[in-house]
Amino acid sequence: QIPTLSLLYATGRLRPVATSPLHAPSASLNSRIGLIRNDITKLSLQNGAIVNAANRRLLGGGGVDGAIHRAAGSDLVKECRTLGGCETGQAKITDAYRLPCKKVIHAVGPVYGASGEDSEALLTSCYRTSLRLAVEHNLDTVAFSAISTGIYGYPSQKAARTAIKTVREFLDTDAGKKLSLVVFVNFEMKDVNAYNEIIPEYFPPV
Ligand code: ADP
Repeated sequence: QIPTLSLLYATGRLRPVATSPLHAPSASLNSRIGLIRNDITKLSLQNGAIVNAANRRLLGGGGVDGAIHRAAGSDLVKECRTLGGCETGQAKITDAYRLPCKKVIHAVGPVYGASGEDSEALLTSCYRTSLRLAVEHNLDTVAFSAISTGIYGYPSQKAARTAIKTVREFLDTDAGKKLSLVVFVNFEMKDVNAYNEIIPEYFPPV
């Protein structure tokens, strides 16, 4: 049993780290963001997607990818085989099969520091593409795993900043207004600590 540390940011229990917030406090934005520590395959999202940290083949793998494929059942890999893989920094959407959510978005994060690649731009693109896909499919909730922070070696602090900044920017757009909740789903404490530190910079408490 994985301990659930539920830190719904909207409770206002978190205090800003930055002395002068980068963004103005906004109750309506803060109530649309959440941070939990849990196994992402357990999240029940009626009209939502979980975001997988996939690889370019899109046929399953280790870490969260393996957990998602095991929980969804073999129909997921059957659909994935029809997709022809996915470029780094992009994402593709499938059904969720036995998972208790509506869709799975498979985002391919960068291997941190891979030569000839801009890791930050690629990670930003993963988050942005996933959010756009969710809106295009009329979903209202998106739960992100901490893309690239496991086997792909992206430092937690840098990855959390990119994730949080990109989500904040997207929620401010017209498309973003269609999302009622974006949840960051962390598995390890190093990521929980990073998110707790950085969320208040982009979502200052009201
Ligand atoms: P990547 O190859 O993109 O680094 P990993 O699956 O290795 O992908 O790791 C991505 C993140 O997923 C890591 O932060 C890891 O702790 C987390 N993770 C692993 N299993 C799960 C799970 N069942 N639910 C949520 N997050 C998970």
